[in-house]
Amino acid sequence: MSKQKWHTIPKELILKEFHVTEEQGLRNDAIHKLMEKYGRNQLEQKQSMSPISLFLDQFKDFMVLVLLVATLISGLLGEYTDAITIIAIVIMNAVLGFVQEFRAEKSLQALKEMAAPHARVIRSGKVTSIPAVEVVPGDLVLLESGDRVPADIRLIKTYALYIEESALTGESVPVNKQEDVIPYEDIPLGDQKNMAFMGTLVTRGTGVGVVVETGMNTEMGKIADLIQSTEEVETPLQRRLEQLGKILIIISLILTALVVVTGIWHGHNAYAMFLAGVSLAVAAIPEGLPAIVTVALALGVQRMIKRKAIVRKLPSVETLGCATVICSDKTGTLTQNKMTVTDLWIDGEEIKVTGTGYVPSGEFFLRSNKVNPERNVPLKQLLEISVLCNNAQLVEDHGKKGFFKRSKGDWDIQGDPTEGALVVLAAKANIHKKELEQLWVRKKEFPFDSSRKMMSVIVEKKDQRFVVVKGAPDVLLDRCSSIILNGHVMSLTPIIKNQVKLAIEKMASRALRNLGFAYKELTKGEVIVSEEDAEKNLTFVGIAGMIDPPREEVKKAIQTCKNAGIKTVMITGDHQTTAEAIAKTLNILPPHGLTVNGQDLYNMSNTEFMEKVDDIYVYARVSPEHKLRIVKALQAKGHVVAMTGDGVNDAPAIKAADIGISMGITGTDVSKEASSLVLSDDNFATIVAAIEEGRGIYDNIRKFIRYLLASNVGEILTMFFAMLMGLPLPLVPIQILWVNLVTDGLPAMALGVDPAEEDIMNRPPRDSKENVFARGLGWKIISRGFLIGLVTLGVFWLTWQTEPENLIKAQTMAFSTLVMAQLIHVFDCRSDKSVFHRNLFENKYLVFAALSSLLLLLGVIYIEPLQPIFRTVSLTLSDWVLITIAGAIPTVGFGLANLIYHPKFLMKKVSN
Ligand code: ATP
Repeated sequence: MSKQKWHTIPKELILKEFHVTEEQGLRNDAIHKLMEKYGRNQLEQKQSMSPISLFLDQFKDFMVLVLLVATLISGLLGEYTDAITIIAIVIMNAVLGFVQEFRAEKSLQALKEMAAPHARVIRSGKVTSIPAVEVVPGDLVLLESGDRVPADIRLIKTYALYIEESALTGESVPVNKQEDVIPYEDIPLGDQKNMAFMGTLVTRGTGVGVVVETGMNTEMGKIADLIQSTEEVETPLQRRLEQLGKILIIISLILTALVVVTGIWHGHNAYAMFLAGVSLAVAAIPEGLPAIVTVALALGVQRMIKRKAIVRKLPSVETLGCATVICSDKTGTLTQNKMTVTDLWIDGEEIKVTGTGYVPSGEFFLRSNKVNPERNVPLKQLLEISVLCNNAQLVEDHGKKGFFKRSKGDWDIQGDPTEGALVVLAAKANIHKKELEQLWVRKKEFPFDSSRKMMSVIVEKKDQRFVVVKGAPDVLLDRCSSIILNGHVMSLTPIIKNQVKLAIEKMASRALRNLGFAYKELTKGEVIVSEEDAEKNLTFVGIAGMIDPPREEVKKAIQTCKNAGIKTVMITGDHQTTAEAIAKTLNILPPHGLTVNGQDLYNMSNTEFMEKVDDIYVYARVSPEHKLRIVKALQAKGHVVAMTGDGVNDAPAIKAADIGISMGITGTDVSKEASSLVLSDDNFATIVAAIEEGRGIYDNIRKFIRYLLASNVGEILTMFFAMLMGLPLPLVPIQILWVNLVTDGLPAMALGVDPAEEDIMNRPPRDSKENVFARGLGWKIISRGFLIGLVTLGVFWLTWQTEPENLIKAQTMAFSTLVMAQLIHVFDCRSDKSVFHRNLFENKYLVFAALSSLLLLLGVIYIEPLQPIFRTVSLTLSDWVLITIAGAIPTVGFGLANLIYHPKFLMKKVSN
């Protein structure tokens, strides 16, 4: 395809070519046509498995193939009904397996799409965030540090913009981008500095550009085949279960062979025994286990989405239940990130500001006297710096037209809430950002970065040039050599510096988030290349303190964590006193808990840190780089760590954590890609909800493993003991296959969506190295399975003894007892304690599944045409009494034993 050399075209022509302006971007009504013309902005996906091959895949199982061959033989021998029924059952089994796997695949696909990156574009004059696939050529895209570039873009404005293009060029050093036209046509991508390419990463700075190519037309599209790789989605549990499955296959085959050999030895017909053996093997091998695990995981993940947690990496669902520490950011996660400036410190005085939210009306008071900002020079200066060194905008939301019209005067901010609060503050004093920016032209920006804790901008008016800076006041103070006091610029002596520090402390102790402001005038010809040049020898102007109230639901979530044995740690770039004040309100900081700041942490040796790490609850004034050290220290202490983050620099810590969590709203693409869990509402309480779901999912997996394996043990033992005792076959092949399909299939799936036990967040976290069969599960499987086998055989033997001539009756009784025992046992599987500890009817799916299985059983027993197929006869009411009592023994017996021993168990728990 012949392509334009976009980098050689001046930006004015680019804008013209796409009919856009820098202020308005594309018009909303033009999008549809462009989308139709160019298609979605995505790389063509490799075909995933088609439904047909997924269905055919179900027949690949070795034992199923053996069964089909056996069926073929019985068909050839003239046993047509047998053959047709077995084939029908095998097909139904395949359908069930297909449905389970198809559902799992679909949900995984949906998850991938939900976690896909977004792009910020200007359309019809408004900044909006849209899914990256909806970007069209001509879109005006805003880039900032942490973004993944959504398409190929010709840059028209850049501020210290650096982009890492290793995905495309192999060069890992970020490229400094600029907007000027490059006249050379055939230059490598790495030298096309006025272009940003799809899939590359913004590591620093900000920029604006016009989308010139999308989807497969981008540079990335050209190499799409090379970079597409299927992601590993198997969880450790799935892998362990697969290994376990192999062991179980061997055990089942050995036992089945034993059953067949003993049967033949006792004089049974070899062919009948072969068919029974193969059916038993098909039934006993838990081939459906991995699929049900995937379905349970996928459904659990969907429940998590409803609770605002998006899982990016499936294995983290398991790890969630093991989390022992959550390290959480403060701003936006524990707090609301809705800032309002309430206090100012200027010229040695405290000023209060009234008004709430983003409505730009409020007043300024100095010792209860109203202040006129127009006449207070330092105040005016502070407000002007605060809006010039600022990227947020205050917008009036005119609401929707027509019936749902919102009242005029709904105000909102676009951009960072901290900066938005400052724009609102200035507007209260009639200083409007847009107007001021007409007067003072922005020449350069050194964007905010959490490590530097500062941002600065160079502005120019005629022949005047200033650097205006805002940032963490204590850090900023160290870059200042003078200060405005009593209306004059004075040297910043140590005494005055201490005075300012006291003011900072005072504001912070009221849990206010503080920002300092400073400036310097540049001399003619003074060149500023780096932020170090810009941010030194400044004049300190004052401080603004803003409130950021804690999120209401967080306090309760932190208590839930405490009950669940999970420690909450706050990590923030904010001032120590502010952090402590908020930590205390939220009950994060216990009386014996320690607070450490970035500097302390820097000075601490590793051994010293390891000694203290368990007692530290608040990390203040830390940089993102410290987070990695915190994660490592906690992990070395044996903790399973969940760590939140939103910025580019948070990515290493998010990656290193056992559960890396990123923010759906404020998070950068880099942090999202590094994370395994995305919070779509940025809320701490969502992490706790996800942990609860994670614990529930793991419990459910254990529940159906218990159910399936105990059922299988029961089936094998029934046959095995019967053969050992020289009895006739207690179950015929069709019955075994029927049990496998109907009794095992549906109820097991219903267990996969069982509601969590009430005490799920009152237990300590699970040990991450714990075996699936730990905490008595192995014993439960064997003991219940053994009893199920025993009662089935008992009923068979009893009926056969009373009516020796009626073997079919004895087999029908055994078949019904086995089904009944399993259907009662399934309710027992819902609790680690006993069947009496939970409301039997709580899981509607399970009640429905058990009832349907029971109805189907009645069907094959009482519907006459089915009787010869399933080798059944009609039973009497007294038969059913026996079946029900026998079937209830394994569950009720252990339940009663548990009730008798439970008080002791309870007392033991209390004394622990
Ligand atoms: P978190 O709790 O999520 O770490 P935080 O806002 O407390 O968030 P940072 O975002 O790293 O931590 O901010 C650290 C400090 O930098 C803040 O206390 C504030 O003083 C200052 N700061 C924050 N945002 C800006 C900004 N846009 N421009 C300049 N300074 C800022």
